[in-house]
Amino acid sequence: MLTLYSDVKYIKGVGEKRAELFHKLGIFCVKDLIEYYPRAYQDWSASVKAADCESGEPVSIRATLIKPVKEHYVRKGMTLFKCSFSDGETIINVTIFNNKYLANSLKLYEDYLLFGKLEKRFTSAEMSSPQIEKLADNIGIHPVYPATERLNSKAIAKVVKTALEALPEFEETLPREIREKYQLAPLDFAIRQIHFPSNNENAEIARKRLIFEELLVLQLGLMKLKSKKKSKTKLIIKDDYTADYYKLLPFEPTGAQKRAIADCIADMRTEYPMNRLIQGDVGSGKTAVAAGVIFTAVKNGFQAALMAPTEILANQHMSTLSAMLGSKIRIELLTGSTPAKEKREIKARLMDGEIDLIIGTHAIIQNDVEFKELGLVITDEQHRFGVNQRASLAMKGEEVHTLVMSATPIPRTLALMIYGDLDISVLDELPPGRQPVRTDVVNSSYRKRIYEFIKKAIARGEQAYIVCPLVDGEEPSLASAEKYAQSLANGAFRGYNLGVLHGKMKSKAKDEIMRSFAQGNVKVLVSTTVIEVGVDVPNATIMVIENAERFGLSQLHQLRGRVGRGSTGSYCILISDSEGDTAQERLSIMKKYSDGFKIADEDLKQRGPGDFFGSRQHGLPDLKIADMLGDMETLKICRRCADEILAQDSGLDLPKHKAIAGKISDMFRASVSN
Ligand code: ADP
Ligand code: MG
Repeated sequence: MLTLYSDVKYIKGVGEKRAELFHKLGIFCVKDLIEYYPRAYQDWSASVKAADCESGEPVSIRATLIKPVKEHYVRKGMTLFKCSFSDGETIINVTIFNNKYLANSLKLYEDYLLFGKLEKRFTSAEMSSPQIEKLADNIGIHPVYPATERLNSKAIAKVVKTALEALPEFEETLPREIREKYQLAPLDFAIRQIHFPSNNENAEIARKRLIFEELLVLQLGLMKLKSKKKSKTKLIIKDDYTADYYKLLPFEPTGAQKRAIADCIADMRTEYPMNRLIQGDVGSGKTAVAAGVIFTAVKNGFQAALMAPTEILANQHMSTLSAMLGSKIRIELLTGSTPAKEKREIKARLMDGEIDLIIGTHAIIQNDVEFKELGLVITDEQHRFGVNQRASLAMKGEEVHTLVMSATPIPRTLALMIYGDLDISVLDELPPGRQPVRTDVVNSSYRKRIYEFIKKAIARGEQAYIVCPLVDGEEPSLASAEKYAQSLANGAFRGYNLGVLHGKMKSKAKDEIMRSFAQGNVKVLVSTTVIEVGVDVPNATIMVIENAERFGLSQLHQLRGRVGRGSTGSYCILISDSEGDTAQERLSIMKKYSDGFKIADEDLKQRGPGDFFGSRQHGLPDLKIADMLGDMETLKICRRCADEILAQDSGLDLPKHKAIAGKISDMFRASVSN
């Protein structure tokens, strides 16, 4: 019997091979499929007469095949099929490309529904490659799923339909009184109707119910996380060592850095734990803020932990902070690739209080790491972590002070919603002497010239990054980075010291390459987007990004932020052969703006919030149907509803809340694994 947790391959008509196509869409089990909601609908039920519609509009027309299909061979790989339909008033000439199966299935004098764009001619009309369905089979409103080249929306719909037919009734998750109070449809109805609505109104009702549930689960989960942080702390900072810290710095801190450090220290002097977000654009100097806060905390006798999302970044923090603070405090690095023996020693010393600052990846939050007196936890680039990861580190110490740092500009209202009682300091000032990065968008015919340009920079003693092309539909793979570097090493950059960096490399190898790049030995670093966050090599002045149109603007901004970190003029060259207006328009935003907030704003305007917040920019669980900004009103209502539920049953222990409690752990478990 099919259940929600059955592998998709067991759905009738799927099998091993097609299951792989579903995997590409992130669909592994039946539940994933059911939660793969349609992006839009095509309403085939409202069929019209050709005479009544506008040219160029997508329409659905009920028509009879009145002339048999004729095959026209054009060239290899291109066969056209032509035939004619009539809607009773107008002749509609239809062209079908290459689809022999469809063409052969059409029968003379049968009734069909044609769905597509209609082009009107003087006395007749034309449709090119419409979707065609037997009138008798028509289901009215068709779901449109985000599809891939090899798995189209129609095929997905068919599988969803089969699965829904095989599944028993969906068990209700929301208590009756909540459904009544907020006028929400039953879950079973909502799931079936969201995929195959019997009319537009039902589709709306289904959406409303599912969005509500998703946002309610999100709110409940976040509120439970937050409620753990309310109590007082004994970890009170008595003395402020900031003045001593400034003497250790090789530069004068900016006003914004000073304010942020002061904010943090003021927080840590109260009897409530600090819970602060430092928001600062790439290059604004967040590391120096973190170091300052750490210095004072450690001087007051507490241990501190600094967490980075990647090993590369953790390593870099290790060398930066050792250089700044190494003579004053005891610092160690703990990552997934620290050898077991060393790990054991580090853990023992942490427990004995012989280490003041531990820097690392999420390896630090593994359960068996204990501290003697952890007082401060800092998470860098927090949007890369799941909420739970932060929370579980915070729980290592008794009500520890937490500081999260991010370059992602989150609108304030949303930040408050997500982080609740979180305080925010903004680094709104760049270190002096920075020059804006000159940005250009070019097509690949410029590649040779770009390589020459890079060589000139190398001759001046500078360095460059090349972010290698993305492989179709996937994360930049090992093969693409290595192949690309290989071709450069044998071609344009023969005789130059090139380095390759990608996520699948052993961390030791990564570390070596990064170190060698930071020291200036490797001149050109060919990399996947693993360098996207945080990497700081001021001597690198050129960033070349291949297939730039495939990246989100915020991601491009992060990548561009890897250059322009010193006082030498820097360049960002976006290579794109995409001729579409939207791609070009999007990339031109990068040319126009250097401010991350502005870019995020434009990104939001152009792509809509769904994409921006769907793209893992915030460290929240993935939402399947709701959209943080677009559904802000519902979010507020859900917040109230969550308050009511928790007021009545703070542990969600009542039987009627069992299902929803399960949903919360589902959602938040998923966010940790990312
Ligand atoms: P981000 O905010 O992107 O994490 P970093 O902390 O990596 O930025 O700092 C970017 C660069 O700016 C580093 O090379 C750092 O040494 C330098 N820097 C930071 N603060 C200052 C300052 N006040 N004056 C000059 N350089 C600074
Ligand atoms: Mg940083």
